[in-house]
Amino acid sequence: MSFRPNQFRHASLVPSPGEYREGRWRTFEPRAPVEKVLRGQRFLLRPGLTFTPYANPTPCNAHCSFCSEELLRLDATRLSAKTPIGAHGRYFAGLARAWQELAGFELGLSLSGLEATSDPAWMSRLLTLVRAHDTLFAERVLYTNGSGLCTAPALIDALAEAHFDRVELSRVHFDERVNHLVMRFDADQPIRTRTAFEATVRQVLAAGLELKLVCILNTQAVASVEDVERYVGEAEALGVRRVVFRGLSELGDLYRDNRETRWMAKHRVPVRALMDVLLPEEGEPRAGWTFEGVTSGYYYYNEVYRRRGVEVVLEGASYVAHLDGVQGGVLQKLVFHSTGDLCGDWVPNAQVIGNYFEP
Ligand code: SF4
Repeated sequence: MSFRPNQFRHASLVPSPGEYREGRWRTFEPRAPVEKVLRGQRFLLRPGLTFTPYANPTPCNAHCSFCSEELLRLDATRLSAKTPIGAHGRYFAGLARAWQELAGFELGLSLSGLEATSDPAWMSRLLTLVRAHDTLFAERVLYTNGSGLCTAPALIDALAEAHFDRVELSRVHFDERVNHLVMRFDADQPIRTRTAFEATVRQVLAAGLELKLVCILNTQAVASVEDVERYVGEAEALGVRRVVFRGLSELGDLYRDNRETRWMAKHRVPVRALMDVLLPEEGEPRAGWTFEGVTSGYYYYNEVYRRRGVEVVLEGASYVAHLDGVQGGVLQKLVFHSTGDLCGDWVPNAQVIGNYFEP
């Protein structure tokens, strides 16, 4: 059973999902690469890849124990997270230059990195630039902790005006005390409270934006199927219709030992174990759950379920498979770093394409 990009395989075609639960990315069939000239050199690019303007206008205003932006791969000389975006004029001129070179190529926009909303002025300017390149991105997604959407709600309307398809909002628990154990927002961020978080969710939904809540599974917050069911119930009561539970990515031995790798090792909850409870290898789905199907990418796999009115995705991913993908000679991902370098990887000294700060 192989998977093509964006392919959703319906439950009726997946007689034994357990067979593919681990390492399903090995069954992913990528699209044929396309040649493109960037900064005067020829590169092979995977059509449909996502472009990320690495969002670090400021240091992040949360300090999540699971933060992948704090993970230092062994081949990395530095972390992008530690070099905040400098002069905005030069930055946006460089970004516009990169987008001009990519015109006509099939791309998605994935706004992530640190926290894009932490500097509303930077993000407003970015959204203005997105609007000026309206035909460039087939899909636009913001990944956020919600902090700036809460304090600067004009950003929510600006996202709708820039035709964002989806906001993926990170929250590990509805109880603010439990959430804070893991996400550790700065004291001046109102979104740390449940009241402000829920008000922000309602505002995003009221603006007509699609919203998906993202819960990273871990033993300090959501770890069991009962926890998952409670979370889904609270999301549903709030009007949310899509939730994803992500396992912590497999790290292999690619990263230097630090506080985050140690926390992940200690608090990891295998997504596979939850899948096995929701849909045992032999048998029916758990009561109250419907299995809808599966998807896959080059380094992740999903199972899609429904519980009452909510689509619930369980997702596993591997940074080892991700590295294999980005080192395969075809660009799978584009990341525009604060230095003006465009790279085919999150690591700022890996898969460097060229610098866009100079014309
Ligand atoms: S909100 Fe995102 S970037 Fe900020 S600490 Fe949490 S995981 Fe890291």
